[in-house]
Amino acid sequence: MQQRQLTISSIIDYAAQVFGDAEVISRTIEGPIHRYTYRDCARRARQFAHTLDRLGLKPGDRVGGASWNHYRYLETFYGVTGIGAILHTINPRLFTEQLAYTVNHAEDRFIIADAACLPIFEACRDLLKGVEAYIVLTDAAAMPNTGLQNVYCYDEILQGADEQFPWREVDEWTGSALCYTSGTTGDPKGVLYSHRSCVLNAYAFNTPNGVGVGFKDALMPVVPFFHGNGWGIPFAGPMAGANLVLPGCDMEMGKLHELIVGEDVTVALAVPTVWLSMLEHLRQTGSNLGRLAKIVTGGAAPPRAMISEYESDYGVTISHAWGMTETSAATTYSHPPNGVSEKAALDIRATQGRPVYGSEIRVVDDADKPIVPEFGTPGEIRARGYWVASDYYKTPDKPAVDANGWLITGDIGLIGSDGNLRLTDRTKDVIKSGGEWISSIDLENAAAGHPDIVEAAVIAVPHERWQERPFLIVVRRQGSDVTAGDVLTWLSERVAKWWLPEDAVFINEIPHTGTGKIDKVALRKQFAVGKSGFATGET
Ligand code: AMP
Repeated sequence: MQQRQLTISSIIDYAAQVFGDAEVISRTIEGPIHRYTYRDCARRARQFAHTLDRLGLKPGDRVGGASWNHYRYLETFYGVTGIGAILHTINPRLFTEQLAYTVNHAEDRFIIADAACLPIFEACRDLLKGVEAYIVLTDAAAMPNTGLQNVYCYDEILQGADEQFPWREVDEWTGSALCYTSGTTGDPKGVLYSHRSCVLNAYAFNTPNGVGVGFKDALMPVVPFFHGNGWGIPFAGPMAGANLVLPGCDMEMGKLHELIVGEDVTVALAVPTVWLSMLEHLRQTGSNLGRLAKIVTGGAAPPRAMISEYESDYGVTISHAWGMTETSAATTYSHPPNGVSEKAALDIRATQGRPVYGSEIRVVDDADKPIVPEFGTPGEIRARGYWVASDYYKTPDKPAVDANGWLITGDIGLIGSDGNLRLTDRTKDVIKSGGEWISSIDLENAAAGHPDIVEAAVIAVPHERWQERPFLIVVRRQGSDVTAGDVLTWLSERVAKWWLPEDAVFINEIPHTGTGKIDKVALRKQFAVGKSGFATGET
């Protein structure tokens, strides 16, 4: 067979040649809808590659990108990787210090940002050590005023660049994209995707056991491209020749709905919180979802009732996916087999699903021994595959895999005899709210800094809209009359607003495990949480 490297540039070349008229439709940061084709996208991506080359970017260098989903950001996925450099997708929702940490750790030479994300860099410019220049993803007319130094306007620097600029030949194992995960405690950790892993992951995404996308589809990633390498969509969409509908920064449900219906979206992807809000919007407005046939959701478990309502009231099937930044996002997908009852199908849809070819999962016991798949035996989930991380970027002291080379996921669950994964818990002491991580330990430390608090613990409690919210449990200093309100006010001055716990309760003593850690299992039991709210422990 021919020796051909699996490179990202081959995807946009294919899209331009074979599905050159397929459209990329974007809501721009400025508001108006922009439309062009994959042919245009490929042309401008080459121009951007040429521009970066002219700016002195070398193979292996990192470029940070902070942007919502729109066509200019899409182009950078190809422009940066097309000269063998690495696109570090930055989550603009990170705290300033975390964001600066990732830019410095990645040693980003340039920052690409759209106008909505630029202020983040203005806020932390003094912390950024090696950034040489900023490229704003806009045109001259919409160029924002900024106090940053060495700022280029993207559309302006593209002018005159070579539309035929040749892609640099790279080995398929070369790094292409870098995404930091803040899903555990401590500093965020980087996951470096190779060209090969991105191409293979996009292939799997497009197969029917994955998302199942072809050229007749219009694919809408509501999930931002800064989450888990954009769930593979910047590559899978062009590879499928599907229209791409990119919602920009406006996450208002009416705006998303307008795009879904107006652009004949057939497949849309987002965390469950988005789909819960969309359901509310549909109920209130009495509208339908046009041609939308499939929703893929993951990042957190969607409520069963939501899956059922989309199917029965809107004719939209929900495929539930599981994955992590470390597994190039989704790597298992739930699809019920033919010929089962409605209830059985719903049961399967509510699981995290089966791995798509190219990745494997297994459950291990405390001694790292695989547990034979059978119901009722949860253990820790481990994963391996063509797009699963082997280590963290420049972080040798934090291994990603176990002694057998399987990724340590920090998720607890079981694999049923039907092959479907069912998550039951996680070992990671974190809270995932609306698809974004909240560190319980950071919250505990911030609360424990209050002069009247002896000890603080934070657990996750279920929440109808955000899936999980933090719940604070504190021990007061003897004789103090500090109130829950006082503690929350104290916290509000120290953490982001969306991190603020739903409530704080006082107890006399926080339970500890044999090794002196806060016993969260005991706390969760003690504060048995019902659907209607929290809280029953002694206060
Ligand atoms: P991230 O690396 O930020 O994408 O987060 C990955 C983590 O999100 C996983 O390890 C799980 O804890 C959680 N997660 C992802 N998908 C699901 C799902 N379908 N159901 C429940 N939890 C999920």
